[in-house]
Amino acid sequence: MNEEQKEPTPLTEVGEFGLIERLTKNIKFHQKSSLVGVGDDAAVIKNEDEVTVVTTDMLVEGVHFDLLYTPLKHLGYKSVVVNLSDIYAMNAKPKQITVSIAASNRISVEALEEIYEGIQLACEIYKVDLVGGDTTSSLSGLIISVTAIGTASESRIVKRNGAKENDLICVSGDLGAAYAGLQVLEREKSVYQENQNMQPDLSGKDYILERQLKPEARMELVQFFEKEGIQPSAMIDISDGLSSELIHLAKASEVGIQIYEDKIPIDPTTVTTMEELNLNPTLAALNGGEDYELLFTIPLDYHDKIKNTPGVSIIGHVTDKNAGYFMVAKGTESMVEIKAQGWQSNME
Ligand code: ADP
Ligand code: MG
Repeated sequence: MNEEQKEPTPLTEVGEFGLIERLTKNIKFHQKSSLVGVGDDAAVIKNEDEVTVVTTDMLVEGVHFDLLYTPLKHLGYKSVVVNLSDIYAMNAKPKQITVSIAASNRISVEALEEIYEGIQLACEIYKVDLVGGDTTSSLSGLIISVTAIGTASESRIVKRNGAKENDLICVSGDLGAAYAGLQVLEREKSVYQENQNMQPDLSGKDYILERQLKPEARMELVQFFEKEGIQPSAMIDISDGLSSELIHLAKASEVGIQIYEDKIPIDPTTVTTMEELNLNPTLAALNGGEDYELLFTIPLDYHDKIKNTPGVSIIGHVTDKNAGYFMVAKGTESMVEIKAQGWQSNME
């Protein structure tokens, strides 16, 4: 795991406090609301007149990541980003995180430091402060649990339940790339397991691999809403695939959904990769997971403001509850029912 030839330091050598000290010694704050951070019994956060938004996500080795092909720095980065994505999905801004780690003796101090490099890089980019955590041992795999804390003025909070009939359905970025990236990584893993001399063939796949291993959260979309004075009626982040998120949003809002297959944004690399694997690219967008894009609905009045916004696609509209959940298929114009398939191998 390390480029250097140095022997990895076992966790037992530094002890819990030595480890926490090594992992957190370089922390700098970006938020004036972070009053007390690592080193006391609890962190202290000073919020003025805003509401607080809190979310937690746990990443478990063997369930959410495979250390065979996951660079540790990316893993740290991703463990933060998936949480920030949930804060943005409330139309709030993340401010602080806490990080809890359970590691077995198989993991060295240097490996945990690499994870923390990724965590600190995400803190730097998204301007959030690491203010605490917990460190413990695990008998089997590695577990990373991150809690993110954010704020927003109460009137700007966007929940899943506000979508109204005729609202536009929009998504940020493109979908299915993280799933396509995972398929490539899994394919190369099985090739490698059969023949350890084979070099992985990942050429031309940078974009989809990065989408799987080092995703980003849609900070700029929330900033855009603020700048343009746009208040989405409902929003959710896409962690389990478009189908299941559409249904979550529609059920919470008690509405129906109609989207158009040819409007779903899919990157060309995702399309070619899925075709190489004899899989349908639309299915990667609908049922693949971990894109961390934002799915939102907005009243029709915002159509002119949103229609030429780079990085936002209008994919359909909200219908009456009794109309159900449908996608108009490309070419044939036939209506396909949207079913929640979710991303099964990533149980939440
Ligand atoms: P306590 O025994 O009171 O739970 P700990 O010894 O677990 O305290 O933690 C000491 C300090 O270090 C606390 O501020 C805690 O938030 C922080 N901390 C512990 N583990 C981590 C970690 N993995 N990452 C960041 N901060 C941590
Ligand atoms: Mg503790």
